[in-house]
Amino acid sequence: MNSGVAKSHYLTYFAQMNYISTRGGAPSASFSSVVLDGMAPDGGLYLPGEIPDVTGRLPLWRSLGYRELAAEVVGLFADLPQAEVRELVDRSYDAFADDEVVRIVPVGGMHILELFHGPTLSFKDVALQFLGNLFDTLLERSGGELNILAATSGDTGSAAIHAVRGKKRLRIFVMHPKGRISPSQELQMTSVLDENVFNLAIDGTFDDCQGIMKSLFSDVEFKTRYSLGAVNSVNWARILAQVVYYFYAAFRVMERTGAGRVRVSVPTGNFGDIFAGYLACRMGLPSDMLVLATNENDILARFFESGTYSAGKVRETVSPSMDIQVASNFERYLFYRLGCDGKRVETLMKEFASNGRFTLQPANAEFGRGLIVAGSGDTASTLLTIRETYERAGYLLDPHTAVGAHVAARYMAPEAPMIVLATAHPAKFGATITDAIGKNIAHHPVIDRLTGQPTRCRLLPAKISDVRSFLMATLDRKI
Ligand SMILES: *Cc1c(COP(=O)(O)O)cnc(C)c1O
Repeated sequence: MNSGVAKSHYLTYFAQMNYISTRGGAPSASFSSVVLDGMAPDGGLYLPGEIPDVTGRLPLWRSLGYRELAAEVVGLFADLPQAEVRELVDRSYDAFADDEVVRIVPVGGMHILELFHGPTLSFKDVALQFLGNLFDTLLERSGGELNILAATSGDTGSAAIHAVRGKKRLRIFVMHPKGRISPSQELQMTSVLDENVFNLAIDGTFDDCQGIMKSLFSDVEFKTRYSLGAVNSVNWARILAQVVYYFYAAFRVMERTGAGRVRVSVPTGNFGDIFAGYLACRMGLPSDMLVLATNENDILARFFESGTYSAGKVRETVSPSMDIQVASNFERYLFYRLGCDGKRVETLMKEFASNGRFTLQPANAEFGRGLIVAGSGDTASTLLTIRETYERAGYLLDPHTAVGAHVAARYMAPEAPMIVLATAHPAKFGATITDAIGKNIAHHPVIDRLTGQPTRCRLLPAKISDVRSFLMATLDRKI
């Protein structure tokens, strides 16, 4: 859909957004440095110093195509000329199968927002294609280089690799938990043989990988010496790119149904995607509810039900990209929930680090109560949802999206149609599709082409020192 809005009608922004840390102990920073640094030097995550109220712009935003809308949203937060933002957006989304980037399909009373039409067939492409090109632009400008270190529970790694491969100012090192991601997820990463791509299979869980990454990043001297950067959803630019589709989908579904507001269900792992939705709501998205849907790794669902945040053991499920107990982006939400008190965030995160738990008073109205509701779905309900949706509507959900649809069913309301974020194409999870409906009918040429490709990967123990040595050995040779 093309809006036909003339170029001269684009809004231009001159505002210079400053960024602050969730732990309140870092100087405020610019968009460019926040993108390149990933995490704040005090161990916190960056957030914009203020959340713009876009209520007045909604009538204009409604008329925009996806790319135009993306340029508008990004322009509010980035210190780049608007023409450069638009060029970045176009370059990023040219890699998608659809000009409008996403598709919205009505299925059994819900609206499935397909976010998986990028090169690796997961929603992570939406943010990472943008981030890869943004890095390129910023490094071109500064003349620098960046070595990206990432931990993946499946989809981030391949999306990041495909966003960075072949870019000459960037190298990428991706840790994945060995044997705990789907075979096609693994192949999507290890079959990329570009010189600037390094796959590391870690003998442990995703939380181990994330722990190693966090501790290497917290060593400021090491991080600086080797120009380490992050693409995990702690990177602000990813959250920002995800804010866009909440608005886009709400407009389309409101047009289609005549409703004045929507609800959005979000299959959740690291809390990045739903945090983008939370920000969108605070900016003025006409949505009265965000449904946080988890699998058996339900630390977040338990928190929103009881106020207690307590880590359990990671369990392997059929939705592996959500097999996460410690959700990095949750800290960003906590910051707002605690009235923007960085010191309290720091105290709670320390309490969590030493005791594995903390408890908050029930949310007050302003900072979340009622807006975010939560629930979880187990393997049986995920498989059942895939099967029933296929039988009744002829539509095939991937297991992550099925968790979202399953939990969403509890929160349907006639006045606010439900959007379910479809975070991956079912062809990425063929074995689970077979379990659900008895045969594997989920195919996609991107996945089918992977079979038999040559691969490259390095196996390492789940130890900080081993990963550190590998990075040093590789980078000392190059620099
Ligand atoms: C990453 C991922 C999720 C979870 O998103 P978060 O931003 O980490 O909450 C859900 N589904 C799929 C397919 C994913 O790749």
